[in-house]
Amino acid sequence: MSGFSIVGMTGGIGSGKSTVARLFGGLGVHWVDADDVARQVVEPGQPALQAIADHFGEGTLQANGELDRAALRQKVFEDPEERRWLEQLLHPVIREALVRQLAPADYALPYVLLVSPLLLETDQHELVDRVVVVDVPEETQIERTMARDHNSREQVERILAAQMPRATRCEKADDIINNAQPIDQVDTAVRTLHQRFLADFGRGA
Ligand code: ADP
Repeated sequence: MSGFSIVGMTGGIGSGKSTVARLFGGLGVHWVDADDVARQVVEPGQPALQAIADHFGEGTLQANGELDRAALRQKVFEDPEERRWLEQLLHPVIREALVRQLAPADYALPYVLLVSPLLLETDQHELVDRVVVVDVPEETQIERTMARDHNSREQVERILAAQMPRATRCEKADDIINNAQPIDQVDTAVRTLHQRFLADFGRGA
């Protein structure tokens, strides 16, 4: 068994998961972003990318050998069975990479963070000992995402509608970080939670 606990952190698009994860990171907490890992497993040279090209055809690769995300999205968008095939390929590969990256060598703190937009929607929540939800009102989510990604309100609202509703997500949380406040106040909340995690997960506690 690993020598530390895993805290899962989730939230809707633009809720501030990455921002809050960086605050924990500033306190020395090791964190892994599931979105980054999901990208890494389909980089050129990875077996999953080859499996995608074999299954969907070379049209899912760009000339430089990288995944053509738009082409792949189109194929699975049109066909739920193909979507399932892709999920069954990628989910175990992502999970294995997550488990590997969540175990840093030579780590002094008693917990690490798994940051994932799909923590509660996939079996990733089975990996974690506790769930933290980063929460803001939907209007804040929309405004911040539009500003960050230069997307239209309509695009962001469509993404929001496809995600778990805010209330359902919050019901599943052990702790909620209110990110609809100035960042220094969020930082204070993060420090308080960090102290509690150190106490709860500390060796001999
Ligand atoms: P997520 O990782 O959940 O998609 P981000 O951490 O990227 O969200 O945050 C979305 C946007 O909102 C970013 O541009 C970020 O700088 C901004 N942001 C996050 N938290 C706050 C906050 N407390 N106050 C103001 N802006 C914030």
